[in-house]
Amino acid sequence: MVLKEISIPQLRTVLTGQIITPGDAEYDKARTVFYGGIDRRPVVIVRVADANDVKRVVSLAREAGLELAVRSGGHSVAGHSVSDGGIVLDLSAMRALDFDVEQRTAWAETGLTAGEYTTRANAHGLATGFGDTGSVGIGGITLGGGVGYLVRKYGLTIDDLLAADVVTADGQLRCVDAETDPDLFWAIRGGGGNYGVATRFQFRLHEVYKIVGGMLILPATRDVIASFIAEAEAAPEELSAIANVMPAPPMPFVPAEYHGRLILMATLVHTGGGEAGDRAIAPFRALAAPIADMVRPMRYPEIYPPEQGGYHPVAAARTMFVDTLDRSAAETILDHLQASTGSMAVTQLRVLGGAMARVPAEATAFAHRGRRMMVNVAALYERPEEKATHEAWAADFAAALRRGTPGVYVNFLGDEGEPRVHEAYPGATWDRLAAIKRRYDPTNLFRLNQNIPPANE
Ligand SMILES: Cc1cc2nc3c(=O)[nH]c(=O)nc-3n(C[C@H](O)[C@H](O)[C@H](O)COP(=O)(O)OP(=O)(O)OC[C@H]3O[C@@H](n4cnc5c(N)ncnc54)[C@H](O)[C@@H]3O)c2cc1C
Repeated sequence: MVLKEISIPQLRTVLTGQIITPGDAEYDKARTVFYGGIDRRPVVIVRVADANDVKRVVSLAREAGLELAVRSGGHSVAGHSVSDGGIVLDLSAMRALDFDVEQRTAWAETGLTAGEYTTRANAHGLATGFGDTGSVGIGGITLGGGVGYLVRKYGLTIDDLLAADVVTADGQLRCVDAETDPDLFWAIRGGGGNYGVATRFQFRLHEVYKIVGGMLILPATRDVIASFIAEAEAAPEELSAIANVMPAPPMPFVPAEYHGRLILMATLVHTGGGEAGDRAIAPFRALAAPIADMVRPMRYPEIYPPEQGGYHPVAAARTMFVDTLDRSAAETILDHLQASTGSMAVTQLRVLGGAMARVPAEATAFAHRGRRMMVNVAALYERPEEKATHEAWAADFAAALRRGTPGVYVNFLGDEGEPRVHEAYPGATWDRLAAIKRRYDPTNLFRLNQNIPPANE
């Protein structure tokens, strides 16, 4: 491939959006992504203004032979949203959001964050499910699947995706849905950024205004962890839970005697709210005397608390699906967390099932519909020279927890090589994705992602 120099002054004449280059005061901030320890220097960052800009940047990257990073919210776990020596296509200025309240649908530009979308939808008493963090971009989370607080009641984010505008590698803008282009629409529901740049999504919304939800902190014992999982599996589908087993932070709502001790810090959401919500939460409250109980009626967006700007953690992490989590696995969790020498070590547990599991595995490119639980382990650390130690810890820990067939959710996958990407897209899913990739991106322009190379002829 021949690399062509790109002319920045010429670029300024054809693009509407902001162009940021190494000489600009904003450059360092603009190349920073959520995760720390990533120090890459793109030749240009284009903060696109509209779909026409996206078409031009995609064509430019293709013609110049430059690596293209596509960024929505910048939370890529693998650090894929910034390029060294290439172009960053940054969608964060594209934040239009139009509701059709009667039809309960919305068109959302992909520079929006989950938190912003959720807050604005709540003004209409409506919601689409995203993840557990408000600052995550709707671009990345949607294209990979989307597992959050509404997963058991309404399924994955992609289960509410009705259509998308996508700029493919040939620079064309396509409006894609189940009728116009069933293959591409299938592939973008789980296949990540492999097929083009999504500029807008059309989502279905659900009536979710007030919930019963919030944080419940329990002592992390083997029995509490295993029973928490059993209760989350037995709970009505209105309830989804995300539990973090971790050392208690020195926060005002945690009594001082617990600081640094292992706790189970859960966030619970019951979409029905009211008395049904209280009834569904009661078994969790009864597992042990809560260290803190902040579960209460609230408007749904309050589940996304304000985030600390400038927080860029460095983590050694692994993710997996598992089918059981019993007392012996709970013990494994406690032992490994205690053994970590990181500045913080955490295990996140998410019980799945419900609406997510009712969609057939082959209906979208997210193939793990039947998996019962997702587990993430991570150690945060500050000193780069400690990387190998923490990576070894995370790998050992993951191996000790693994139960059932391998499988991984692409959006939590780090930079772990092609065999792990295969685990995200098992069997026939991989073959279909590779064939569709060949049709829409035969030269693999969109490769800075959990890559699915085009199938061979
Ligand atoms: C703190 C934190 C919490 C998280 N919690 C959850 C959670 O609860 N549930 C969950 O499902 N996931 C969660 N994730 C994972 C998250 O879904 C992925 O990291 C996702 O890729 C982030 O999307 P983004 O737009 O912010 O990231 P970006 O870094 O901007 O994008 C990630 C990748 O997605 C692709 N991409 C992004 N936007 C577009 C677009 N518009 N068109 C084409 N390709 C695009 C690109 O390949 C890009 O490299 C979490 C991640 C973090 C860091």
